[in-house]
Amino acid sequence: MSGRDIVIVGGGIIGAAVAFHLACAGEGERVLLCERAAPAGAATSLAAALVGEARENLNLLPLVRQTRADIAMLEADFGEHVGLAEVGAVHVARDHAVAALDRLAATMRAQGVAVENLGASDAQARLPWLDAASCVRRLFFPAEAYVEPYLLASAYLRAAQRRGVACRTGFELAAVLVEGARVTGVRSSAGEHIGADVVVDAAGAWAALLPALLGLALPMAPVRSQYWITAVHSLFPRAAPIAVIPEARAYARPELGALLFGLREESSVAVDARRLPADLAGFVFDGADPAGWESLSAGAPALRSFFPALDEVGIAHHVSGPSTYTVDGHLVLGGFAGLAGLFVASGCNGAGIACSGGIGRVVGELVRGQEPFVDPAPHRPDRLGYCDPFAPELLARCAAQRSAKRSG
Ligand SMILES: Cc1cc2nc3c(=O)[nH]c(=O)nc-3n(C[C@H](O)[C@H](O)[C@H](O)COP(=O)(O)OP(=O)(O)OC[C@H]3O[C@@H](n4cnc5c(N)ncnc54)[C@H](O)[C@@H]3O)c2cc1C
Repeated sequence: MSGRDIVIVGGGIIGAAVAFHLACAGEGERVLLCERAAPAGAATSLAAALVGEARENLNLLPLVRQTRADIAMLEADFGEHVGLAEVGAVHVARDHAVAALDRLAATMRAQGVAVENLGASDAQARLPWLDAASCVRRLFFPAEAYVEPYLLASAYLRAAQRRGVACRTGFELAAVLVEGARVTGVRSSAGEHIGADVVVDAAGAWAALLPALLGLALPMAPVRSQYWITAVHSLFPRAAPIAVIPEARAYARPELGALLFGLREESSVAVDARRLPADLAGFVFDGADPAGWESLSAGAPALRSFFPALDEVGIAHHVSGPSTYTVDGHLVLGGFAGLAGLFVASGCNGAGIACSGGIGRVVGELVRGQEPFVDPAPHRPDRLGYCDPFAPELLARCAAQRSAKRSG
């Protein structure tokens, strides 16, 4: 194992977390992370960055727990500050979502996650903007949290660099080089060749592009995620809990005296990864709804019934960006049968910040040929055989996967 050359493509949170885990386990490999722009400047910097455990997909739980362990380590051992706000989350339901919330609470309790019932007045005091009295269930998950995603990604990368990982920015990779059935290196868009035994593709929404040049397909597509930030208002205490409202297809968290809220569209919008520019500034997913107003007005009636002051507080910002969703809700982690040395770390289904540490760890273990700490089989990139990552049917299935999520 020692002496191998490993190239990581992409300096978002996933590339940084893979670099961190490779560096921490340090078996003498030389690790180079290549980022074409600035680290953490793409999807990572846009994320709402909820890093909670309360999820229906139990496959993600150990990955999220690893992220939380990494955050503790980055803060204690590396002196990093990642803006962790452990404010807890209040999940509410009023009608058809009650049974699902009860199931989630039972599942989480069985996994050792703390869950408390909140009275209406208690919930109202914590979330002054929420019509708490109208909710039938108000469950509080005290360990739920959010982070500053740019700080967490930077912390992973700085810690990796302190343990010997090299980083080149402004450096775009154009091809993975292969001889026979194994990877031998990469070529930059400027024509530079770098030898490598292993390439880890952590290129986020663009991750399908390099494997496609080798005839390899990833079962994922970039899908629009978006949220809005209100004006600053006294209804939004700075240390309020996160709110999760499945019946409004919404989540919300404090944002510096304002409220950041995400809405999941009934019909999400996916894009062919080849159409996604390297610089996301100004990129529009949906020409018919460039600034998200249509989505907001479609979601507003349901949200307003939980958030009666929605129309009074004023919207200050709209943020949208690509999250990679897969056709089956699993991630895209690991290698390909028949090609040694190429690994992918992507397909995060809107949970890349929350799962970053676990993804970094499992991909590091796979690269080293070690027994992974979670079963990677459901996440294998080639689990569905060949499915064209740019075909309209695949894009539609990935968009539907986002729309079917319980919240956020
Ligand atoms: C609006 C929104 C809200 C979100 N909210 C949450 C949330 O609450 N919780 C959560 O866990 N997740 C959330 N996500 C998802 C999360 O942001 C992503 O899962 C995560 O950031 C993915 O990280 P990444 O490193 O894979 O991708 P990115 O951060 O996009 O990084 C990929 C990097 O690869 C680089 N790159 C691409 N191609 C090349 C190449 N050929 N050569 C060199 N470099 C290359 C890019 O420049 C980029 O910097 C949200 C996403 C969005 C858009």
